[in-house]
Amino acid sequence: MTLGDEQLERYARHIVLSEIGGAGQARLLASHVAVIGAGGIGSPVIQYLAASGVGRLTIVDDDRIDLSNLQRQTLFGSAQIGERKVDAAAAAVARLTPDCQVVARAERIDATNAPSLLDGVDAVVDGSDNFATRLAVADACLAARIPLVSAAVGRFDGQLAVFRGWEAGKPCYRCLVGDDPGRDALNCAETGILGAVTGVLGSLAAVETVRVLVPFGEDMAGRLVLIDLMSMRFRNILLAPDPGCPACAG
Ligand SMILES: [Zn+2]
Repeated sequence: MTLGDEQLERYARHIVLSEIGGAGQARLLASHVAVIGAGGIGSPVIQYLAASGVGRLTIVDDDRIDLSNLQRQTLFGSAQIGERKVDAAAAAVARLTPDCQVVARAERIDATNAPSLLDGVDAVVDGSDNFATRLAVADACLAARIPLVSAAVGRFDGQLAVFRGWEAGKPCYRCLVGDDPGRDALNCAETGILGAVTGVLGSLAAVETVRVLVPFGEDMAGRLVLIDLMSMRFRNILLAPDPGCPACAG
């Protein structure tokens, strides 16, 4: 793929980075990423990946825009309340760039439809708000060997990880969380969330997705970053594969 004149100018600040350059930018333009959840985390993920020149985004979300979303879901405006999030997200991307094609899927991803929704993607970003969805996405990514960028938030905290559980020595999502359905108990509606916390985690997830696609720097798979914004502390934890993991062991 060769970049056109407009693309050379649009992506000039990427191209000047030796870690990305013209070749990395061409890889981004040829990439297909699935974003699960067009909410607080999904908003910056979608904005930054589209602006970065990712050529194709499949956006999966079955929800509509609610007034209480607007405190953190910066992709949407007051006039769009009641619209399907995937449609409003596609419109936002179309305003931003002609280089990113959006596939809008207004459905809830589960174990049944995940393989077809994720077919052919180069990376998946999970910013969904429930544990059942996260498990279904993680299992489908592991089975299809798709790198998974996982970001989660609550109150003033966040977690970020990248999973490639099929590789030797790398954990999968279930190595981290097991399969405890009780984890689904709390969500943002009940516990609250500082709006900008979703922006921090979504932006970091976008960085990690670009890293997966180009790639550059230090590989993050096998680490969990715990972000405590109450005290502004970032902590890295090494994640080992669980030898008894039901998904990836053996
Ligand atoms: Zn595992």
